Amino acid sequence: MPELPEVETTRRGIAPHIEGRRITGVVLRRPDLRWPIPPEIASLLPGQVVDSVERRAKYLLLHTAAGTALLHLGMSGMLRVLPGDTPIGKHDHVDFVLDSDRALRFTDPRRFGALLWQMPGETHELLTGIGPEPLTDAFDGDVLWHLSRGRSASVKTFLMDNAVVVGVGNIYASEALFAAGIDPRRAAGKVSRERYARLATEVKRILAYAIERGGTTLRDFLAPDGAPGYFFQELNAYGRAGEACKACGTPIRVVTLGQRASFYCPTCQR
Ligand SMILES: [Zn+2]
Repeated sequence: MPELPEVETTRRGIAPHIEGRRITGVVLRRPDLRWPIPPEIASLLPGQVVDSVERRAKYLLLHTAAGTALLHLGMSGMLRVLPGDTPIGKHDHVDFVLDSDRALRFTDPRRFGALLWQMPGETHELLTGIGPEPLTDAFDGDVLWHLSRGRSASVKTFLMDNAVVVGVGNIYASEALFAAGIDPRRAAGKVSRERYARLATEVKRILAYAIERGGTTLRDFLAPDGAPGYFFQELNAYGRAGEACKACGTPIRVVTLGQRASFYCPTCQR
C-alpha cells in the first residue's frame, strides 16, 4: 500500500509536468472508485490551469481556480504522466488531459483509491480534524507528549492515529519505534517527554530518508510501465519476525497491536 513517502514521491514526480499546465479534458471511465467520483469534475476542470500540486496526509491536491481535485492512491493506485495517445489499459480509470499533449493517468486495479472534489475556500471533510504533517515544525515530541497523557492505548497505535499525526503507517511506526528504542506495546501515556522527543526525530528522519530513496525512481513516472519505487529496503524491524536484530542479535518478535502486525526487538526496545 502506498504510504506517505510513496505519495510524496509521486507528488514530486508529477508536479513538474502538471504545475502551470492547462487541463484540456477529463476522462472518467467509471463513475466510482472507492467512492463515487463527483461528476462536476468533468465539467469544472477543463480549461483550468493547475496552480500547484500539494500533498496533505496521503491525499494529492491539484489546485485550480475552480476548485481542487483530491486524489488518493488507496491500496494499489498509481499516477503517471504519459503521452496523450498511450493505449488505455484495463485499470486506467481517469485521464486528466493536459495542454502539453500528455495526460495524467490514474490507474488502480483494486479501486480503493479516490478522486474527490473540493470547492475553493473549502476543506474536504476527509481533511478536517486530522493531525499535523510529520515533516513540518508543527510536529514534534511535545505534541506527542501532550496528546498522549492519560492514554492507555499502545504507543504504536497512538503514533498511527491520524488525529495525532498524519501519514505514519505501519512500516514507519515500527521502524521509528525501533530506532527510538521504545517498546511498541508500552502505553502511550507512560512514555516520557524525552523519549517522545527522540521518537519524533526518528519519525522525521525515517520518512525523509524514504522519500529521498523514492526520489531515485522519479524517471519511472514517464515510463508507460513505470511503477513508483516503494521503500522496503534497509528495514530493521518491520517484516523481520524471527530474524536477528541488526543491533543485538535477539530474534525480532511480532505482536498484534490495534489489529496490525507490530515488529520489535525485546532487548533493544523498552
Ligand atoms: Zn536488538
